[in-house]
Amino acid sequence: MKKVLLNENELPKRWYNALPDLPELLPAPLNPETKQPVKPEQLEQIFSRECVNQEMSDKRFIDIPEELLEAYAMWRPTPLVRAENFEKAIGARAKIFYKNESVSPPGSHKPNTALAQAYYNKREGIKKLVTETGAGQWGSALSFAGAQFGMEVKVYMVKVSYEQKPYRKFLMEAWGGKCYPSPTDMTQIGRKIREEFPGTSGSLGIAISEAVEDAATHSDTKYAIGSVANHALLHQTIIGLETEKQLNKEDVKPTILIGCVGGGSNFGGFMLPFLPRKLNGENIRFIAVEPKACPTFTKGKYRYDYGDTGKVTPLFKMFTLGSSFVPPAIHAGGLRYHGDSPILSLLLKHNMIEAQSYYQKEVFKAGILFARTEGILPAPETNHAIKAVVEEAKKATEEDIIVFNFSGHGHFDLAAYDAYFNGEMRDYEYPEEEIERAIKNLPEI
Ligand SMILES: *Cc1c(COP(=O)(O)O)cnc(C)c1O
Repeated sequence: MKKVLLNENELPKRWYNALPDLPELLPAPLNPETKQPVKPEQLEQIFSRECVNQEMSDKRFIDIPEELLEAYAMWRPTPLVRAENFEKAIGARAKIFYKNESVSPPGSHKPNTALAQAYYNKREGIKKLVTETGAGQWGSALSFAGAQFGMEVKVYMVKVSYEQKPYRKFLMEAWGGKCYPSPTDMTQIGRKIREEFPGTSGSLGIAISEAVEDAATHSDTKYAIGSVANHALLHQTIIGLETEKQLNKEDVKPTILIGCVGGGSNFGGFMLPFLPRKLNGENIRFIAVEPKACPTFTKGKYRYDYGDTGKVTPLFKMFTLGSSFVPPAIHAGGLRYHGDSPILSLLLKHNMIEAQSYYQKEVFKAGILFARTEGILPAPETNHAIKAVVEEAKKATEEDIIVFNFSGHGHFDLAAYDAYFNGEMRDYEYPEEEIERAIKNLPEI
């Protein structure tokens, strides 16, 4: 079997919500000032009402609205592909499959939740969506979604990326999104940071603070979140639900699921629908892969922390490197977040998922082998998953079925490949002292 396809009418009609199946109740997000659990009304100041409901829902399955299914059908279901050439190249005894999320218009899994958030906000009468973006993957996915549902989109883009990686900015503009280098002078927090640190190159944490402030201070505007939040993972479960259907159709039982982790949305969306199998005692492992330069799961602490630098977001119980930690400038921009999804963090604490970390040169080497054998050039983030596949395949047996999520293509990351081929790419050591300093600054709860 080379390729398994689903018909459009076989798209999953419901998302899977993992909250009722977690080994313990998910610790509530806390108000950053009072340190008391956040009330839904407070979250509704920045998020759509429906997304807030989903964030705390105890229903195991949540219907996907018809209009959204129609939008998904533009590129979904995505292919599940047997990577036979790659198997041969690495001498794998196990079978290897990949779920190809790179076939969406923006080229990654991110529009699965961008479309859902745009749809619900539109339905609730909101005119404008604001967000932050690092390298531009999320900003472009939200701009695409805004164009589909007739919403204005405003993106605070980390200044250094805005200047050094303009192509995704052009893509945002092509879809009608407006993009600004953060910190801007359009928000209080942005003006404060520009005053304190003139010439700063910005960070994801600062851009989040700006976008959240913008949403909180404008009644026609809401904030859209690219990852981490429960509802972002929920929307992404369409990936795992499709994968499950595709594997079932061929009577294939996966034993190892692998994905890269920035905030956890593609990995969570991919593996969570298989969580009930693990809870039933079936033989299945889930492996989250991160950069050694930003080792949230492998070196972070399970603590309450802010989602941003400006401390305007609620506090989340999660694995974190500290919200004041600014990770080294590796090429996998989407994996440079200090925290991680609370759902996945809880699963890691209970050893229901595993975590691995790799250096960027070794992950690019694995990604290039994948491009040469299977044809598709992976995103730098996706290369992390591929490196873990190589390592797991060495230990796996003929009985093993490895499936990984191919989160996106690397067509806008060619400068990173250029750096690799020119020998200019370097590995960053795990910045132990810096992380320790940032962990010391965590709020006491
Ligand atoms: C954003 C991104 C990631 C990381 O984000 P998650 O929320 O952890 O999925 C991974 N791969 C690609 C291609 C991305 O664009």
